[in-house]
Order: sequence, then structure tokens, then C-alpha cells
Amino acid sequence: MRIAIVGGGIAGLAAAFELERARAQGAALQYTLFESRSRFGGSLASEIVHGAVLEEGPDSFLTEKPAAAELCRELGLESDLLPSNDAARKTYVVVHNRLVPLPDGLMFLVPTKLAATALTPLFSVATKWRMALELLHPPRLDHPGDESVAALVERHFGAEAVDRLADPLLSGIYGGDAAQLSAAAVLPRLVEMETRFGSLTRGMLAAHHKMQSHAKSHSPAPKSGAPSPRPVFTALRGGMSQLVGALVARLDPASLRLNLPVVAMERVASGWKIDAGGAKDLYDGLIMAVPAWAAAQLLAAVDAALTGDLGAIPYSSSITVNLVYDEARLGRLPLGFGFLVPVSEGRAMLACTFAHRKFLGRTPPGKAVFRAFLGGVHREALLAQSDESLIATVRRELTEILGPRTLPPILEPETARVARWSRAMAQYAVGHRERIERITARVADLPGLRLAGNAYDGIGIPDCIRLGRQAARDLIAPRQSSAESPEALPSSP
Ligand SMILES: Cc1cc2nc3c(=O)[nH]c(=O)nc-3n(C[C@H](O)[C@H](O)[C@H](O)COP(=O)(O)OP(=O)(O)OC[C@H]3O[C@@H](n4cnc5c(N)ncnc54)[C@H](O)[C@@H]3O)c2cc1C
Repeated sequence: MRIAIVGGGIAGLAAAFELERARAQGAALQYTLFESRSRFGGSLASEIVHGAVLEEGPDSFLTEKPAAAELCRELGLESDLLPSNDAARKTYVVVHNRLVPLPDGLMFLVPTKLAATALTPLFSVATKWRMALELLHPPRLDHPGDESVAALVERHFGAEAVDRLADPLLSGIYGGDAAQLSAAAVLPRLVEMETRFGSLTRGMLAAHHKMQSHAKSHSPAPKSGAPSPRPVFTALRGGMSQLVGALVARLDPASLRLNLPVVAMERVASGWKIDAGGAKDLYDGLIMAVPAWAAAQLLAAVDAALTGDLGAIPYSSSITVNLVYDEARLGRLPLGFGFLVPVSEGRAMLACTFAHRKFLGRTPPGKAVFRAFLGGVHREALLAQSDESLIATVRRELTEILGPRTLPPILEPETARVARWSRAMAQYAVGHRERIERITARVADLPGLRLAGNAYDGIGIPDCIRLGRQAARDLIAPRQSSAESPEALPSSP
């Protein structure tokens, strides 16, 4: 069996790894992995500059979703898995240029600690009342279909909760817009809770309670010196590129093609004819691990309905700017992982992570790393700006937000890196689930074709790995279960 994998991001690499494993176990198959760029990894890209790990794309993955850590263990990277420094975990929201901490007890956008919510300066008194009264929200008996995250949150907690909570959290993660993102696809657990409990706060408290009783009855009392609870985020000591390097090292070099975009494909009676670099080769199976818009272009001649739906999945673009400073020359930085910036603040930055705080041991002592995240659906035009202009914007905004005593405007960063990610992040817009059902049905009618990547069932790294491996397994063996909910949110500061 010959299989082509188009796209060498994390989803395509995970698919190749799975095929390689099957080959090692004696499966008679060959594969070719086509990547248009000069390096593998797609959005995963880290650089180590003077000992500081700078993440130009993702910096970590959610520990709660096991697929990424499992793969790292299979690759022998277990000792390089780095937990987030959760003891110092605190995230701020910028409100009128001030950093206001997210209140304690926030779960999936739902405030669950009434005292913390009552005391936070993040919300007005009217919103706090609304949050308290939300406990009385009746269960939803009608099922009007999908709605936006903003509509769901506003119905329960009011418009201010959208502006100061839902929107910044989602734009810091998806580069997206709460008014466009689908509640059913992005926060399915909340939609379910609304049907069952009415109040999201009551639903969340019940779920939390159940989880705690389950944990108590299934695990012995913790001994002193026992390992600390699971960290929220997991990174790699050498950066996300370490995972890419370890994956590539396990693949057959003869199967890998860099700088070789697939430019056309055709379905023929015996399989798939793939056109790359002028050579047209025949394959029995095809894993499309490119962004959905790229898959739509390549499959245009194969199935119009499929390409219509693939091409309609919106994408956002983003930029990261990493700035390294000498810590001794900075003023006192607020405790925590970083901050989120609501769109209503009118800034270019969507979020900033204090990278040296979030993961310890990846920055030389005495250095501070600010990793700013810009762009998103509202600021696509920023991508056209020069590196110098983007660095100047981030420095100015950081000084305005942190204060000139913390970051003096004349203080030059020791290192600055800008990375642009054009149309890299899929947006699960209202109606996403129905669209995916149609796509799945069309793909089922095209033997040998599988799709993988962040456009379908989870945008985080663990989901992409899970879908890549599943696509490979599906092609070589009957389908096994792949149930893992996509609603957990990946990294924000
Ligand atoms: C700035 C940023 C920060 C993020 N932060 C996090 C985070 O902290 N945690 C987390 O879990 N997730 C994060 N994500 C999301 C996550 O990184 C991505 O969803 C995931 O890496 C996507 O992987 P992929 O393989 O689906 O796609 P991609 O990484 O986009 O890979 C697709 C590959 O296909 C190639 N390609 C395209 N067309 C062709 C063609 N015609 N022929 C051959 N090759 C082609 C591309 O060059 C690319 O390498 C972040 C994303 C970005 C952009």
C-alpha cells in the first residue's frame, strides 16, 4: 500500500509516525510526506537564542488532553516534558490600561466562586448582580441550534462578560472573535450544561463536585512528597521544535520531501494521482494534513461539495513577537503568566505571556522573555507591517500597559523575533459541527482519502496529533475510537 501525506505540520508528522510504526510491525506499506516549506513542523517553530527558548508558534499544550504527552513519551522525550509553573499562575486582563487579575474560580468562562467574583474589579456591579442571579437561570427546553459563544455568554452573564472575559480568552487562543465562534463546537460542555441545569454556574459546580468525589474515591489520600497535581500546560525543555525533531528522526528519510508542494491531485480508478514538482505518482491512500483552505484548492476537481465546505472554514492569521530583556533593568513585573487584551482596548496586542515565568528553566537566569500575540480576525492588516514596526508597537504597548517604570521606553530588548502565521488558525464558526458532518460524509464516499489538522475537531496540538494518527490508522486498519472532546481550550498566558 502506498500512502501520500500532504502537509508536514504536526498533524502530517503524527500521521507519518503512525505509518512508520505500522511498517516496523511488518505492515507492507510505503509513504511519502510532502511539505512545501523548507522545514517540517508547520506552526511549531522554536529558536534558541543565547540559551533562551523562544517560541514563535505554540509554546505548550494542554496537559488534560493526553495525545501530545503520550507521543512525547513514545519518542523518548519524557524527561524533557516541562510542567507549567502553576504555583505562579495568574492571568490579567487589561482594563483601561490597568492589569486586572482574572478572578479565582473561573472555569471555562464560568465564575464559580461568588466571593471572588463579588470582589473583582474586572466587572461592574451590574454584571456581578447578573452573575449572581445566573444561578436561577432556568434549563433551556427549546433547541434553537448553534449560536455564537458571545450570544451564549451574554445571555447568561451580560455583554461585559463577553468583552472582558469571553472575547479576550478566545482571541488569545484562537485569534478569534466570540461573536463568530460556535458555542457548540468551542464550548460543547457549556451548551450541555445549559440544557441540563439552566445555570452554567450550577452546572459547573456540579461537574466540579462530581470530579472531586470521583478523585477521592479512586485515589488514596496523597502522601507528603507525592507528585504535585497535573499541570495545566506542558511544554518541552527544548521548545516545541524538539518534538518536531524527534518525530522526523523516527521517520524514513527516503519518505520525506521538503520544499515540494503538492500542486494538483486527481482521483483515478486505482487511487490518487499526486502532482508534486512535475512528477505525477500514484498512491492508494491520501492524508490531507494541510489547512482546509489549501485542501479545498487541491481537491477542487475531485468533489465540488466537499471543497465548498472545506473552503468555507474561516481562518485567522496571527503574529508573535518575542522580546528578551535583562531582568535587572526592568522594574517589578506583576506576578503571573501574562495578560489578555480585550478588543475594546483598541490595541494591536491580543495577549502577552511572561514566558520566563510560565515555564521555568527555559530562559537563562536574569533574563525576561515577553511573548506577545497579535493579529487575529480583527487585525489581519498587521501582517503586512515590517518587523521593525511590529517590534516598536509591542514595545510601546508593553510600556503603556506595564508602566514606564517597569519597562522604560528607551530600554532596548537584547533579542527580538517576529513570526507571521498567515491563515494558520482555523475558526470554528457557528454551524461548524454541521459542516464537519457534511465533510465527513463526503470523505466517506472517497475511498482512500482522510483529512487531518486543526480545522476539524480541535485546534490544539494534542487534537492535531490525535487526528493525524487516527487518519493513518484508518487507512491501514478499521476505525478505532477517537473520542476526546475538543472543548478544552489550549494555551493562553
Ligand atoms: C501563533 C500560534 C500559537 C499557537 N499556540 C498554541 C498553543 O500554545 N498550544 C496549542 O495546543 N496550539 C497552539 N496553536 C495551534 C496549533 O499550533 C496548530 O493548530 C497546529 O500546530 C496545526 O497543525 P497542522 O498540522 O494542522 O497545520 P500546520 O501547522 O498549518 O501544517 C500544515 C503544513 O502543510 C504545509 N502545506 C500547505 N500546503 C501544502 C501543499 N500544497 N503541499 C505540501 N505542503 C503544504 C504547510 O507548509 C504546513 O507546514 C497555535 C498556533 C499558532 C499559529
